[in-house]
Amino acid sequence: MTVRLATRMQRLGTETAFEVLVKARALEARGKDVVHLEVGEPDFDTPENIIQAGASALQNGWTHYGPANGLPDLREAITNYINGARGTAYDASQVVVTPGGKPVMFFVMLALLEAGDEAIYPDPGFPIYGSMINYSGATPVPLALRESSGFRFDIEELKSKITDRTRLLIINSPANPTGGVLEQGDLEQIAELAIRHDFLVMSDEIYAELLYEGTHHSIAALPGMQERTIILDGFSKTYAMTGWRLGYGLFPGNLAESITKLMVNSVSCTSMAVQRAGLEALTGPQDKVAEFRNAFHQRRDLIVNGLNAINGISCVMPKGAFYAFPNITGTGKTSREFADLLLEEYGVAGLAGTSFGAAGEGYLRLSYANSEANLNKALERIATAVKDLGL
Ligand code: PLP
Repeated sequence: MTVRLATRMQRLGTETAFEVLVKARALEARGKDVVHLEVGEPDFDTPENIIQAGASALQNGWTHYGPANGLPDLREAITNYINGARGTAYDASQVVVTPGGKPVMFFVMLALLEAGDEAIYPDPGFPIYGSMINYSGATPVPLALRESSGFRFDIEELKSKITDRTRLLIINSPANPTGGVLEQGDLEQIAELAIRHDFLVMSDEIYAELLYEGTHHSIAALPGMQERTIILDGFSKTYAMTGWRLGYGLFPGNLAESITKLMVNSVSCTSMAVQRAGLEALTGPQDKVAEFRNAFHQRRDLIVNGLNAINGISCVMPKGAFYAFPNITGTGKTSREFADLLLEEYGVAGLAGTSFGAAGEGYLRLSYANSEANLNKALERIATAVKDLGL
């Protein structure tokens, strides 16, 4: 039987990484060896002190419902961390703790956007941005990011996309899938536009701690911007906690109340034991964060230099996150064709650049959150694939 769905379901997109993972697992089940560079998650285990905090929370009665917006101690720790690291002045009442950073996107779009509104988002960019803008009924307005400018925003192009219907702009620095970073000057120009045209900014800063050059700047710290910025952040990438599902948003004005209402209407609250683990993550030793960052830095250099040594492929050096975004136009294949070829024939699972928007054509996204041995294996296989194409 085909269940009749609400028409709004046609507007919902997806995240291809999970589909490619399923396809890769099916190939493995048939005996094929696959190097997994498709899913964006650290290959490290969660640091031991955080696991202990979560386990002892479960043993000590943190097994009940709790406040919909999150535990006060954790919201306080998040506020201290963000204000210290970003130079903002948020109050703990502006924080809502969510099961992962992703629900912040979901809730923000539902709370803010409706038919007739427009929201601008980066292309290539995290696929859920466009999906959720569409789902809200608003019009998604992609802003192309180009390799020639290090995948930063072209401010003139951004200006051309702003109308009197623009309600929201999404920025993501360091960025998935390109590893591009917005510089302080870019943020200043974006802030000036947000204030002049009176729109909000959702700043996805989930990779802020994975920056290999310079310091991270948040648009929320610029004059007049905290009151029109939503910061999205979380524990998945920084503390290798993807499966725990723990993230948060910092919201301007009265928005935290509406986001809390959406929490009550959906998941009630984020798991208490997981929040206790998050408290340990933020307030305990931070040496693992630096260790992970250093490992990713080395792996970045390994994969990007390796890709640049392969005929038909070129790759700009990403400044942050853990993704390489090589240009594969020299292979004569489309993104999808090359990604499929690599997976099916050569056992390298990566994502087509087009999984992140139309402007991703001509690119692949390879997550280098994997061991150096696996990255070397993937590079050898890609080099063979390219050689077999006659390059
Ligand atoms: N934002 C970006 C840019 C991401 O790449 C991801 C995960 O891949 C997230 C947010 C959401 O992460 P999580 O829901 O695991 O906290």
